[in-house]
Formats: sequence, C-alpha cells, structure tokens
Amino acid sequence: MPASLDINLYKTLNSVELDRKILSAKEKLGSELLILGHHYMSKDVLKFADFKGDSFRLSQQAAESKAKYIVFGGVFFMAETADILTSEEQTVILPDLQAGCAMADMADANAINDCWYFLQNNFPGEVIPIVYINSSAELKAFCGKNGGTVCTSSSADRALRWAFEQGKRVLFFPDEHLGRNTGKKLGLSEDSMAVWDRQNKTLSGNAHARLFLWNGFCPIHLKFTEEHIQKVRNNYPGINVIVHPECSNHLVKLADSSGSTEHIAKVIAESPAGSQWAVGTEINMVQHLAEKHTDKLIIPLSETVEPCMDMSKIGRENLLWCLENLLGGNIVNQVKLTAQTASGAKLALDRMLSIK
Ligand code: SF4
Repeated sequence: MPASLDINLYKTLNSVELDRKILSAKEKLGSELLILGHHYMSKDVLKFADFKGDSFRLSQQAAESKAKYIVFGGVFFMAETADILTSEEQTVILPDLQAGCAMADMADANAINDCWYFLQNNFPGEVIPIVYINSSAELKAFCGKNGGTVCTSSSADRALRWAFEQGKRVLFFPDEHLGRNTGKKLGLSEDSMAVWDRQNKTLSGNAHARLFLWNGFCPIHLKFTEEHIQKVRNNYPGINVIVHPECSNHLVKLADSSGSTEHIAKVIAESPAGSQWAVGTEINMVQHLAEKHTDKLIIPLSETVEPCMDMSKIGRENLLWCLENLLGGNIVNQVKLTAQTASGAKLALDRMLSIK
C-alpha cells in the first residue's frame, strides 16, 4: 500500500481549493463513495454529504447502499454503528478518529460492569440494560449479551415500555436526562427512579426503583437553562421553544415541545410560514434549519452555547485528506470493530428494530 498523504498539507489550502478538490475527489470516486453528514456537522462539511440525518438512519443508509467506502461526517460511535450494520465489503472511515462524544465517554465497560454487578446482586435477573445509541459498540455488545437493547432518542420510550412490559427494571445509560425524560413521559414518578453515580459507584434515590439512570450527560444540551427560555420568550412573544430530550427534565417541562433531531426537523418543517422557533440543540443544526426554512424565524435557544467540539473536529481538510488517500489507493482512519463486538452490538441493534 502506498504511503499515506501528509494531513498537514491540507491545512494550508484555502476555502476555494478545498471545495474544488473535494468535489473533484467525489466525482472520481463516484458510486464507490458515500459521504454521510450528521445534523450537527458544520455546513462546510454537510454540503458534501450524500445523506444527512441522525446517526442511526445514516448508518442504515450506508448499509442499504452499495458504496465501497463510507466516510462518516459524525463522531466515533456513529462510525462504529455504521461498521456494525454495513457488509464486510464496505469500509467505514472517520476523518478524525479523535472525534468522540463526551457523553459516550462517560460510560465504559468496566464502569458499567461495576454497576451491573451491584444491580444483579440486589435484583438478580430483574434488570434489563438499555443503552442510548450515543455509546461505544462495546456497551451495545454488553446489552446484546445481557438481553438488553439499544435505543435512539426517538425510540427510547418504546424500549423502556418493552422492558417494563416484561415486568423488569431498567438500567439506562449513558444519558441520565434522556432516561429521566423518557421515564417521565411514560408516567414514572421521580421516586421510581434512582441515579447511579459513575464516579463514586453508589446509588442515590429509591433503592427499589424501576429505572436506574447512569449519571452521564451531554455537555452541550445541559448548558441550556430556564433563563434562556425566559429570555427568548421575553424577546419574541409567542415564540415556540423546542428542545432535545438530552436537556434536563426541568427544561423539557418548560419547553413547548421536545424530541429527537428528526422530531425537531419535522415539527419545524410542518409548522406554518411565519412561525417562530427557539431551538435547544446543537447550534449547527439550528443554523441549517434557519437556512432551510427562510419563511420562519428559527433561532438558537441560546447564542452562548457553543458547537459540539467533537463534531467540529470533522472539517473539509480531513475529509479531503481521506478522499485523496482513497484515490491514491490508501485507506486511512478506518473504523473496524472486532467480529465479537460487532456481532454482540448487532444483536442489541436488531432487538431495537424488533421493538414496535
Ligand atoms: S452534542 Fe453531545 S451527545 Fe452529541 S456528540 Fe456532542 S457531546 Fe455527544
């Protein structure tokens, strides 16, 4: 295999050169290449995506395609999910392998095992693990192995209901807030939930809870506050506030609506011209929505909440570097799971799809 190209050379290119070279590389790679773009990517990168959307749908689109090379404009767990769902003939590439997810990094297999051991000692055979898709493949495989499932922010309610209908308790990780918001949506009281402190390895709240929440969080979504809502409502009387369920339950209760990125995009798309929206999610997505729906007022819930630093690691420079390496016969930054992890995680993902 030829030596890979020096990424530093790409940092000297100007904006026009980057665009031109990416388009040229895309054209040369043709149907062998599929570029995926998560809603939270900057528009500089997103404009090159063949498909745009949320992480799970993008991975499904990769699996449905015949493309040989899948370049994921997203973060590490998304590329892992794409690798799980795609065939052996397909190669998944992440332009920056350091693009992780702060929330996903708040739970690793060792820490989950400590919590699981505690719960199994106290409630043998009674707990089902449910992991949010924003997690490592290793944790998805843990759920596959232990009778659990994966969920997205759209399917978290179905996953919890599925577990409760079996008369089980649930360990939900890594996002405490999505777990609590979903539990409340299903009618659970605060007293039916307990929080596992991942640092101290202790449980707080009702020791006989039905829903055990791992205390992970998204640092972006937790920055939105009640004051932000008050401010936009004062400045824009009648404005609708819509937030992602990774926000705190307090915020979700104050908002007019909450839901996944797909839900947010759909609700705004279907709203009448002239409607006003303050959106509590990653700022790049808010900007894409504002540019798409120029007949509506769409603003970020707060101007001060910064973009996700991990998503920002994917830029045109490293995208082009990956593409030109492919043209030169080199695969760089491949995300490839072991067969064991991939099959365990696939089991949990298949279970997710089977839950109606
Ligand atoms: S916005 Fe939050 S949950 Fe999404 S990738 Fe960034 S840190 Fe992770």
